[in-house]
Parts: sequence; structure tokens; C-alpha cells
Amino acid sequence: MSLSRSSIFSVDYDRCGQLFPDNAQDWSWKEMLPYFKKGLTLTPPPAELAKRFNISTDTSYWGADSPIKASFPSYQYPGLDPLVSAFQELPGVEMISDSGAGRAGVYWYLTFMDPVKLERSYATNSHYSNHLDRPNYHLMAETAVRRVLLEGTTATGIEFYTEAGGVATVKVSKEVLMAAGAVHTPKLLQLSGVGPKKVLDAAGIKTLVDLPGVGQNFQDHSNIAAAISIPGLKEIHLNAEDLTTDAAFKQWADDLWAANRTGPHSIAYGNIAGWLPLTAITPERFAALANELETQDRAAYLAADTYLTVTKGYAAQMKGLAVAMRSPNTVFARRVEPILKQPFSRGSVNIDPKNPFGANPVVDYQSLSNPVERAVLVEMVKWYRQFHFSTSLATLGALKPNETSPGADVVTDEQLAAWVPTALTPTDYHPAGTAAMMPRKLGGVVDQTLRVYGVRSLRVIDASIFPVLPGGNTCQPTYGVAEKAADISKSQA
Ligand SMILES: Cc1cc2nc3c(=O)[nH]c(=O)nc-3n(C[C@H](O)[C@H](O)[C@H](O)COP(=O)(O)OP(=O)(O)OC[C@H]3O[C@@H](n4cnc5c(N)ncnc54)[C@H](O)[C@@H]3O)c2cc1C
Repeated sequence: MSLSRSSIFSVDYDRCGQLFPDNAQDWSWKEMLPYFKKGLTLTPPPAELAKRFNISTDTSYWGADSPIKASFPSYQYPGLDPLVSAFQELPGVEMISDSGAGRAGVYWYLTFMDPVKLERSYATNSHYSNHLDRPNYHLMAETAVRRVLLEGTTATGIEFYTEAGGVATVKVSKEVLMAAGAVHTPKLLQLSGVGPKKVLDAAGIKTLVDLPGVGQNFQDHSNIAAAISIPGLKEIHLNAEDLTTDAAFKQWADDLWAANRTGPHSIAYGNIAGWLPLTAITPERFAALANELETQDRAAYLAADTYLTVTKGYAAQMKGLAVAMRSPNTVFARRVEPILKQPFSRGSVNIDPKNPFGANPVVDYQSLSNPVERAVLVEMVKWYRQFHFSTSLATLGALKPNETSPGADVVTDEQLAAWVPTALTPTDYHPAGTAAMMPRKLGGVVDQTLRVYGVRSLRVIDASIFPVLPGGNTCQPTYGVAEKAADISKSQA
């Protein structure tokens, strides 16, 4: 599992502070850094690998005591060298010396891997398994919560499905901490009577707290299927294909893996990528696109029956995003595969009105509903072409790079804009935003202490609280949120 941290609210721009002018709790980069460190231990790359690929790490951005560990695979293919060079040939692209610095640019990123056991490090084997003997910690695996129980507007426990097909309850003495993720947290809140009254009425659920933001503001990173292969990379040996054609190399790789789980089989992907700002993706157009976002009628891009508070929150977010579009330090696109890291559209996750308890929630991405999103994706594809055809990658090896999608006949901005919806995958498995930490008057669901508005003794602690997606992968930011939430909850219990 790959790891990056380009901050919930990037280093130079505190988007949470901007949404919460009174800033009762500080969720800025500076404040989050100790929690990022608490949530993850770094092991620098082996010295030989670091020297060969010029990989630097700065331990001031990383923790040393967390049971969750990050490290580098012990081997990388030499074909990464020309990619690094190509990145540096394009304007506005910076090499960043440490992936934990919360900066936009090209950097070596870590893998969630225990460097001693050489296995994935994650919450189950690093937190849960270490505390099985605690008398006050009991996990019921394969057990689904049905809803939160509320007496009036106070959360008093939860209801869950038993193995026998019935329903049982657990009462709490302090508070319920909801961590069902950005798809199931809003579902459970709505099933508990906390959510937009219109949605709850349609499903026949009695509204206990009318909270329009629950399940709205849904965001994910999206993936555009532009594909350009680089035949020249195959001429650089050793490479991953050699594992199928070079018996001696395969034997060496197999032996290393069998001996100590190192070598080529320890790599998921090469651990370098560009996490680029819009100023680098399109130095010519970023300002015009930011202006367009600032001046557009944003409400027109939300569903017609969207609550006013949610609409206001969307407008506030887009205003902030326009500022971020002009920043050289907010990530908008990830390379080598093109992924949009700052969505402009907002979807929803609502209970199914026909079968609220029995069916999965209805997930509606609403991708491309804001035209600026499509325009940015067009610029991303143009940059992707530049990366392959206007750098040294174009002359690497005997054969030129080969574009299979969108293809040579898709040339103009209009043609690219027409192609985008045919090639978009709306998820990069990073759902977020459906119980957003924003002011209630802006459609927020939790306050800055993660308490659900209008409900006593109920907090949300998962990726649904991100008001806007981080410009990096979401796992470590979620661990950071959880570490800070634990401190808040303990201090207020
Ligand atoms: C295939 C895939 C690959 C990914 N790769 C990466 C990566 O490389 N790097 C990265 O940073 N991020 C990655 N992510 C994203 C990362 O896993 C998520 O951002 C992160 O797990 C979000 O944490 P969360 O606590 O919000 O939700 P989750 O981790 O989804 O936790 C929610 C938990 O609630 C449980 N739950 C839901 N409903 C109920 C219910 N009714 N009753 C009881 N329990 C319930 C679920 O079973 C789950 O265990 C990936 C995600 C996926 C799906």
C-alpha cells in the first residue's frame, strides 16, 4: 500500500482554518504534523538503494514510536531513472527531498511495510493484534452495526445484527465513536435519524436531528484512462518483464524472496511519482481556470434540491480551491498514472429510500458536474502527452512512446473534453467528505472536535470528516485524524 501525505490542508494553505474562521481547534499542517508522526514510524531506505537512486529522507517529518511502520522495498528497477529526468525537464516541477514534507512535486514515497517482518503494516496487525489481552477492548468481527441509538438527541449506544439474524444492543457510558468510513458512516447516521429530512422522510425514517450535510459533499480522487507506453524502458535492464524472459534473473529474485523477502518481488510499484500542482500541469491556463471557478454560478452544479447550507459550503470550498489552483504547493494531479487529486464536483451517499436497512446506500459521484473539473482533466491529459513526447522519454530507445488512449485522432480541447467522460473512473478508492468537519451553516456534519452537530455523545473519526480531499493518498491522513481525535476525545471525556 503506497503512502503519501500531501497534507489535509497543504503546508502553505490551511483550508480548514479558512472554512472555520473562529478556529477553535487547530487542524492546520503544523498542528497535524505531531499526529502524522505519532501515527507512523519511518525506516529510511537501505543505504545502497538510497545512494543508487538519490533517495533522501528527513526524519523530522516522521515518527519513531508508532506501531504502524513505513519503509521502502529493498529493490527498485533502473527504468525509474529516465522518468525522474523527464519530470525535471518540465517547467514548475520540483524534486522534493522528503515525501512527508507536505509539498507538491516529485518524490520518493514510502510503502506501508514493516521493514523487519517485511509484511504490510496496518491498523489490524499493528494496533488491534497488540492489544488482544486488554479487558476493556472487545472487537466483534463480521458484525454489522444497524444504527446508533438515540434517546432524544443523545447517543446512548448502538444496535447491531447478531449471527442468528436478530438485533442486539450495546449501551455506552461515555460516547459513541463512529468510524464506518465515508460510505457507511453517512448511511448509519441517516438510519439513526440524523441527516437531511427530505432523504429521511423518503425512506420512512423519523428525523431526530435535521442535519442536511450528512451524506453530501461526497468526494473521491478520479482516474482518467490516458495510456502511453514507453517501449524504450524495456530496453533498460533489469526490468519487470525480465522476470518472465530471463531465467537467471528470475532465479535470483526468487532466491532473495525465499531467503529474506527482499529483491524485485518486494516491489508493488516503483516508489517514485509526481504529485503536481496545477501551476505545473498548465502554466498557461491555471490562472484562467481559477478565475472561472471563482466567478461561476456554483449552485448550478449541485443537484436542484440541495439544501442551502450545503450549497453555501460548496461555494466556500470552491473559493478556497481557486486559491489553491494558483499555488505551486497544492497537489492537483498524480503522475505517472493520471489521477485528479482535487475534485471540483460533489456527489452524495444516501440511504436507499426503497430499502433503507436492507440495501447498500446509493452512491452518486456526480463526476464532471462542475465544468472546471472537465477542463482540468483535459489539461492533465495534455501534460501527460508533454511528459512522454516533449521530454527525453520521446527519444528513449529505438521506438517512440505509443499512445493508445485517447489516441492520435483526439487532438483539440473540444475533442479531449468529449473523450473525458468516456475514460473516467470516478474512484481511486479514496472516498471522503460525507460527514464534513465544517460549520453547520456551511453544511458541516461535525464540529472541530468531531462531534456530530445537534447530537450529544457522538463523534465521527474516519475519512468522511475531511471537508476536502487531501492532495495525497488518504490512509495516512486518516491515521493522523484518528490520533488527534483520540487526544480530543480523552481530553473531553
Ligand atoms: C483497494 C483499495 C486500495 C487502497 N490503497 C491505498 C493506498 O495505497 N494508499 C492509501 O493511502 N490509501 C489507500 N486506500 C484508501 C484507504 O484504505 C482509506 O482512505 C482508509 O482506509 C479510510 O479509512 P476509514 O477509517 O475512513 O474507512 P475504512 O478503512 O473503510 O474503515 C471503515 C470500517 O468500518 C467498517 N464498517 C462499515 N460499515 C459498518 C457497519 N455497519 N458495522 C460495523 N462496521 C462497519 C468497515 O468494515 C471498515 O472496517 C485504498 C483503499 C482501497 C479500497
